[in-house]
Amino acid sequence: MKVRFGEIPEQGLHYDIHDESWFPDRDLHRMGPVRSVIVLKRNGDDRVLLEGEIHTILAYDCDRCTENFSMELDLSFTVNLEYAPGNIPEPAEHECSLSEMDVMYLKEPIIDVFEILNQQIFLMISEKHLCSESCKGMCLQCGVNLNLETCDCKKESKPSPFAILKR
Ligand SMILES: [Zn+2]
Ligand SMILES: [Zn+2]
Repeated sequence: MKVRFGEIPEQGLHYDIHDESWFPDRDLHRMGPVRSVIVLKRNGDDRVLLEGEIHTILAYDCDRCTENFSMELDLSFTVNLEYAPGNIPEPAEHECSLSEMDVMYLKEPIIDVFEILNQQIFLMISEKHLCSESCKGMCLQCGVNLNLETCDCKKESKPSPFAILKR
């Protein structure tokens, strides 16, 4: 889905997107439909402010106990799109800058909405997935899920995957 800067009227454009074709189903598992909302506003001749939302339910395997769990995803984000023909300015800071307003430079005054949705979902989801903050994980020696049962293994003060080898 592509929108030219010139197509955006003074009052802006609002899209309710039910198309899910942009969603990275190969990388993320979801348990429901994806709905996204995009609002485009002109900000001078060469700039467009994009406000977006992504709503869905994601399924993960917990990093600690490996149980499957689902999590509602409600992302909202803002991207400043700037048409910068020829010379794309170097990013002023490192990519990990915490500025809430990301600037994206475009070689053409065309907004690829699906590409932006796809990028944003990877930027916004956290890398760590725990079924709960207090997840006790798995016993490293016998492999039971310690959220569900307890085991008689000797507790090491610092559990490590090599604990069993040290004896
Ligand atoms: Zn867990
Ligand atoms: Zn155990």
